Order: sequence, then structure tokens, then C-alpha cells
Amino acid sequence: MTLLQLKNVNTYYGQIRALKDVSLSVKAGEIVALVGANGAGKTTLLNTISGLLNARAGQVIFEEATITKESAAKIVGNGISHVPEHRQVFGALSVYDNLLLGAYHRYRTVGRTAVDQDIEWVYSIFPRLAERTTQLAGTMSGGEQQMLAIGRGMMARPKLMLLDEPSLGLAPLIVKDLFAVIASLRDEGMTILLVEQNARAALRLADRGYVLETGTVQFDGSATALLADPRMQEAYLGGAVPA
Ligand code: ATP
Repeated sequence: MTLLQLKNVNTYYGQIRALKDVSLSVKAGEIVALVGANGAGKTTLLNTISGLLNARAGQVIFEEATITKESAAKIVGNGISHVPEHRQVFGALSVYDNLLLGAYHRYRTVGRTAVDQDIEWVYSIFPRLAERTTQLAGTMSGGEQQMLAIGRGMMARPKLMLLDEPSLGLAPLIVKDLFAVIASLRDEGMTILLVEQNARAALRLADRGYVLETGTVQFDGSATALLADPRMQEAYLGGAVPA
């Protein structure tokens, strides 16, 4: 089942057309990687889906409803969680309070008990956060803050998670752990659109991928096909590497 579909989406900053007729789809249960160089438009694309930006032309369709012009608050309520680049946790608040804030939109409808169960769910996936529940988020390591940012996104119980560069600035071993957790989220039924500059790592994790170049989709396909594509190897994967 197609969960998210973009049809000929165009997003502008003033006169600058940052996304040019972008079309893509994400099926329920998939991890889809969106890769491309700096400035290709990856963050703009996620912001356009989550309602932080609005497309000037084209359509964003989520679960068969057009959400192109909806507000960010409405879109979170519909089931899309956006974990932004640079993590952006609330540094002066504890781990627990950051997670609680992630449930902001659900709290009134589902109540405290359900939210506490969700916090336990996040702690089961990120035991490191459980150990640090009272620690101020700003004093955590980069990897821990990234886990917290993802955990906060999970607290909205989304159907679709948009992850923007989760590996940014993290050591390779930490990235490996983090990507294993992202894979386990898919195993739990979560659908993920993953933006990454680390194309090889992202495609190894993903089911399918799209490559953006200056606001346009240049290639797309199964992750396996993209990893084997000589054009991808030359431009994004640093040459062929044995699997
Ligand atoms: P990176 O990997 O460096 O984050 P990206 O692929 O996410 O890059 P975007 O941040 O989406 O790229 O930027 C796409 C284009 O839009 C770039 O040319 C960028 O300079 C431009 N852009 C982004 N934000 C703004 C803004 N607020 N005002 C004007 N232009 C912007």
C-alpha cells in the first residue's frame, strides 16, 4: 500500500526553485533513502512533506488525502513525524521531558497512561535513554542526542518517520548502532523516509532509494540496483566496493 506520494512537487524560496517536479512514493513498511550532494534539496523535500514549507505546485498525498497545503501541526496529527537535521533536542530539559514533549499532540486524546507506555517503548528500543532519564539533553553525546531526537519522534506514534541526516557528525561505530535501530523500527512496522549524505550506508539499510540532484530526481530504484549502478558508484559511492 502506498503511504506517501509526491506528484510533480515544486518548492520555492522566493524566486529560487529548490524542488523541480519531484515525484516519489513510499509504501507502508519500507525504508526509502533519499540521497544526494549538499544543496540538492533533501531537507527542502522533507520540510515540504511535514508542512514546514508548502509546495507552490504539485501534490503531497498521505494515505490518499492531499496534505499539500496543510499546517505542520495538522500533518503531525495525521501521523507524520519529522526528526530534523542537527537533532534539535531541548538541551535544558531532561531526557524524559523531551520525550514527553514528543507526545504533545497525543496527550490530550490518549492520556497519561498511554504516553507513559510509549516512553517505555522508546526506552526498550534505546536502553541508553532509560539509563539517562533525568539527564539534561544538552549534556548528552551526539549519538545519544540523535537517539533522543528519534525517540521524541516515536512518541507521536507516527505511521511515517522523516529522518534528516541522522548520521551527521557521528563516529562510524555509533552510526552502525543507530542504523541497526532504524532497521528494527522497520521490523516493528514503521515506515521511514531517510535523508542521508552517506549514500552507501543508507542504501544498505533501505529497500529503495531516490537520488536528488539540484532539486530533481535523477535516479531511483531498489537499493540493491542503485548500489550496483556504475553512475551511482562514480558520483555518490566513491567507486565500486565489494558487497
Ligand atoms: P544539505 O545536505 O547540505 O543539508 P540539502 O540537500 O538538504 O543539503 P537543502 O537544504 O534542501 O539541500 O537546499 C536546497 C537548495 O535550497 C540549496 O540551494 C539551498 O541553498 C537553498 N535553500 C535552502 N534553504 C533556503 C532558504 N531558507 N532560503 C533560500 N534558499 C534556501
